[in-house]
Amino acid sequence: MSDPIPFNRPFVSGSELTYLEQAIAARELAGGGQFTQRCQEWLRQATGSPLALISHSATGALEAAMMLAGLEPGDEAVMPSFGYPTMATAAVRQGATPVFVDIDPATLNVDPEQVAAAVGERTKAIVAVHYGGVACDMERLEAIAEQHDLTLIEDAAHCLLAEQDGRALGSIGDLGAISFHETKNVTSGEGGVLLVNDRELMERAQVIWDKGTNRSQFLRGEVDRYTWVDVGSSFGASNLTAAFLLAQLEAAAEVTARRRAIWDRYHAGFEELEREGLVQRPATPPGSLHNGHVYYLVLPSVEVRAVFIERLRAQGIATVFHFVPLHDSPGGQRFGRVAASLDHTEEMAGRLVRLPLFADLDEESVERVIAATRTAVTELAKG
Ligand SMILES: *Cc1c(COP(=O)(O)O)cnc(C)c1O
Repeated sequence: MSDPIPFNRPFVSGSELTYLEQAIAARELAGGGQFTQRCQEWLRQATGSPLALISHSATGALEAAMMLAGLEPGDEAVMPSFGYPTMATAAVRQGATPVFVDIDPATLNVDPEQVAAAVGERTKAIVAVHYGGVACDMERLEAIAEQHDLTLIEDAAHCLLAEQDGRALGSIGDLGAISFHETKNVTSGEGGVLLVNDRELMERAQVIWDKGTNRSQFLRGEVDRYTWVDVGSSFGASNLTAAFLLAQLEAAAEVTARRRAIWDRYHAGFEELEREGLVQRPATPPGSLHNGHVYYLVLPSVEVRAVFIERLRAQGIATVFHFVPLHDSPGGQRFGRVAASLDHTEEMAGRLVRLPLFADLDEESVERVIAATRTAVTELAKG
């Protein structure tokens, strides 16, 4: 059998150790050091957001976002069921209820009309998940948020360097969270960033980030002592993590270009299967510039998917499915509420399969995945 093709392999730029050595030599280990500053500056430049705070995770960034949105017990946050659990846990730890809504089956992104219908008296926030770096309909979501005075939070975990109409994903809503987990395009092992786009939230974001203290005001010389002033936590990332991350961010454009090239090859390779009605390929709405984070296919049924994954595995090719719908999960049933029918979520989550995609995936492997996929899908269609 040919070499196994993993689903993901984290990218390494080669300058990680150099930067780590510099951080150690400077004896700057905790958060707030040179590398922290440089990562945050890089992220401000890349996204156009006025404030970027790097974190130990996108989950941390989402938790801070829910604090900034002022969620309290009894409040609700409207979000897609097709997403990652921690946007829901971030609301739940504020005592609020996640309210799950359906997706648009063409993009797998939240359906704005379902969001509008789910907004009620107790709604305080909307979470938009941009699946695979392809933008939600932000114009419509921004209008809904404005009309009801809600905080719009982007779970842009997948989205470094992805755009919609020239605007970076994560920089469009009031707040945005991007992940640098090992499974994402660039990584610091665990890591993330909170983008604070609403300038009125900047001061409080800094306090919440700094363990509920006014340390940043103190460092700027604006107050003469530093003390506890608000809710908060230790959301920051260490300067060591930042050193590793900067080495990755500096290679992010190259990583994105390579991933997009593989994505494009897959997309062309499956055009015919889609024309024959055997699969659904990802849609990219006008104005959307994705970052090659995910390549997926929607197969005819959950049964076909199970056999498909097994067949590719037998050829050494790892494929995976994505998002167990939150409303169906034990946590979702215990802490969440369903707004209306989630038919599209259940349907798509049952049929979606993700193909191997990482910056170092060589051409030969890409062709092997395409050939194996075509054969399996065609044979399975014959029954
Ligand atoms: C990866 C991911 C997260 C969590 O990111 P962490 O940095 O691991 O906390 C949140 N939302 C989505 C959509 C993700 O894919």
